[in-house]
Formats: sequence, structure tokens, C-alpha cells
Amino acid sequence: MAGDSAAEQEIREARDALGLFRTQRPRLAPKRQGRERRDEYLDRLSQLTLTLDERCNLRCAYCPHTLAASWTRPHGDRQMSSDTVRAAVGLFLDRAGGEMPSISLYGGEPLLAPGLIRLVAQMVRDSRRPRVRIVLDTNGTLLDDTMVELVAELGLHLQVSLDGPEAIHDRWRPTAGGRPTHAAVLAGMRRLLDRDPAVAGRLRFQATLAPGSDMMEADSFFGELGRELGIPDLPVGASYADLEGADDAVLPSTPLGTPPAEDGWARARAAYVEACATGRHADLGPLVRSWFDGPLIRFYHRDTRPLGEFFRPGGACAPGLRRLHVGSDGTLQPCERVGTAFGLGDVRRGFDFDAIDRLERDWFDALGGRCADCWALRHCGLCFSAMIDRKTGRVGAVPQVACESVREGFEEMLRLWVELLARGPHALDHLKDSSVS
Ligand code: SF4
Ligand code: SF4
Repeated sequence: MAGDSAAEQEIREARDALGLFRTQRPRLAPKRQGRERRDEYLDRLSQLTLTLDERCNLRCAYCPHTLAASWTRPHGDRQMSSDTVRAAVGLFLDRAGGEMPSISLYGGEPLLAPGLIRLVAQMVRDSRRPRVRIVLDTNGTLLDDTMVELVAELGLHLQVSLDGPEAIHDRWRPTAGGRPTHAAVLAGMRRLLDRDPAVAGRLRFQATLAPGSDMMEADSFFGELGRELGIPDLPVGASYADLEGADDAVLPSTPLGTPPAEDGWARARAAYVEACATGRHADLGPLVRSWFDGPLIRFYHRDTRPLGEFFRPGGACAPGLRRLHVGSDGTLQPCERVGTAFGLGDVRRGFDFDAIDRLERDWFDALGGRCADCWALRHCGLCFSAMIDRKTGRVGAVPQVACESVREGFEEMLRLWVELLARGPHALDHLKDSSVS
């Protein structure tokens, strides 16, 4: 059309040739029902999490079990029976698929059940599926000579919870008797690396940032730890503590509501931008790098195909299809993050497809048809846990605030993306070799 600006022409071409800039909203459709997808449930399970033992020797202040959060169990004393372990691992081995299927040993503290760990490893070995990875999700305080031997002998991978320097970690992660634990975790790590240096390639840390934690301080700590342990690229994941619904009285001295400006995030973000813009991304500390890289990497590898007429909201998670949690009593649940709110069957009787279909339907209803109007719908990773009221544990509508927080997070990622682009053509180069796991 005469008089069109170059930008308008470009938009029209993109719409006609690539199907971008739709003028109509997509029609929302629920996911296909679990019953219709029965066949897919036969070979796609890529992650099984087993609550081997509900007991824990620690009482981390932000732990949902310590807080006795209404949506999950309190610290318990139940251990999974050997029969339940056999049924759960058997179910997994029958249905495992994907590049590197893994079994995550979880608790409480799984090292309180070494016999069950051996049983899992034995079953995997007997199945002759060498690509199945067994990951011990541990608080790292029980790695004495015997446990170190167990980890080394079975070639276990480790995810160790460590929140940063002593002052931060010990404020939030004491033993059940109130004693500090930082020194025990580090001693266990050194013992393990002495006995089995190859564990360096199977080790990952997970830090929880609670009020009063400083991201930059935690980052420096992990950088230093990597140098000391001889693991220059120490893998560290991090997340904020979920204290929604927690009572101030049960938390350590740093009060809830510590302003985010004081948690080091802004300084960490500035350091990240500067390093990317000046070609020094590899020099960043492990925590800051993984924190800011994660959302950028997901966006870099986003699906850019045009949106179709229909859209099925709710991300890629189909309950129990790729990821499954088995409670200590053998109940099947979507994952450990949704507590005890949703049951999908039982290890002995298998999947309950009526329950799976009900959950999918409830989820679709809980979104209230609002996704078609949401600009973030293609990037929304909201999961079933958004239906759980953190105070009462009841399941119902997804609150608007959950959607706002998804959009805020996504907006923040876009701001960072644009800021990096503005700093130069190579500021996003580090994403080129990345992949989404
Ligand atoms: S070690 Fe894990 S299960 Fe135990 S209290 Fe801490 S967060 Fe909870
Ligand atoms: S943020 Fe809310 S409205 Fe937007 S796509 Fe996600 S669930 Fe739907």
C-alpha cells in the first residue's frame, strides 16, 4: 500500500510469509487426555524421584516439611519398603525413555537409607541399561567413610544442598538439634573427592537464597570452593526460598520481607551484563552465571513456529508422563514440588488415568480461559502447583498474582536480552553453544 512505512511493510511481510503478528487470538483447548495418550505413557519417563526416607537429620528453616506446610507432609518417620522400591524402579525401567533417564533419590535425607540406595543401584545394574543415571539429592552432612565408599562404588551422581558461606548456610540449615552443618558438608566433599576424584564430574550444588542471603557473596563462595576442590566449572543451581504462608516467628533472625535490593541481585545483574558485553562471560562466578544464563538460554531456543489456530495452555508438563514422583508409601505424584496435593495412582496398580484426566481438566478450568489474552502464553511455565493455595493447601483457581509473576519474570528476561543486545553484537555469543536439557 502506498505510503506504508518500511516497518509496516516488514510487519505485513512477516505476517503473510511467516504467520507472525496474528490478528486473532488462538482458541484454547485442553491437553489431550491421559487416557487418549496411554501409549505415550509406555516409554517416555525420563525422571523418577523416590522419597526413600521421610526422616531428616536437619531442620532447614525454609523446608516445607519443617514449616509443616499445609500442602505437603511434615517431617515424617516412614521409610519406603523394599517392595515399594522394587515396584517403583521396575515401573521406571519398563517405561524409561529419553536421552539420559535418571532416578533421583530424595527424602528427607536419602543417606539414612543406604540399603535402599543399594537396591535401586542393583536393579539398574541388573537391567543392563547403562545410560540410567542415579542422582543422590542430599544435604551432604552424612558423608562419612562408609557413605563415601557407597557413593564411589555405585558411581552415584550427587546434588548437594549448600547455601553459600558459613554465615548464610548455618542460619538456615541447622541439624534437628540446632547445630551448624556447613563444616560437615565441606568435610564430606573433601573426603569424597579424596576417595573418588572422578566424582567431580558427577557433582552439582544447589543453593537456596533466603532473606538475608547475598547473591554476590554466595557466588564468590562457590567460585572459591570450585578452585579449592579443583573443579573450575563448579555446577551450581540456585532458587529463592519459598516462604509463602510461613510464619515470621518460626524463621531465623533475618525477618521476612528483607528488601530484594539488599540481596545482591542488582549487583549480580550488573556484573553479568558487564561480563557479557566485554567478552568475559567465562570469568563469571558459577552461581551468577547459571542464574542469569538459564532464562536467556530457554528464550534463545524458543519455539519460533507460528502459533496455530488452537493453543493448549499449561506448558510441556503432562502429569506423570516424563517426570514422576513416588512417595514413601508408593503413591504416584506429578513431582516432588507439588507435595501431596495430586495423586496419579500407585506403584503396584499403576497409573490411574481417571485421576490424570481429572487433573488436566481441573488445570484447564483453573486457568479460567485467560491464557488466550496473555502475551506470555508461549513462554509460560506455570505448573499445577499454582492451583495450590499455600496457606490452606486447598486446590482451586490459579490466582492472578501467579500469572503476574510469570509475566514479570519474562519481562525481566526480555529487558536483560535487549540491554545485552544494545551493548554490542557479541554480548549474547555465549548462548550459541548452549542447549536446553
Ligand atoms: S535437608 Fe532437605 S528435607 Fe532435610 S530439612 Fe533440609 S530441606 Fe528439608
Ligand atoms: S501467565 Fe497465566 S494467563 Fe498467561 S499464559 Fe500463563 S497461565 Fe495463562
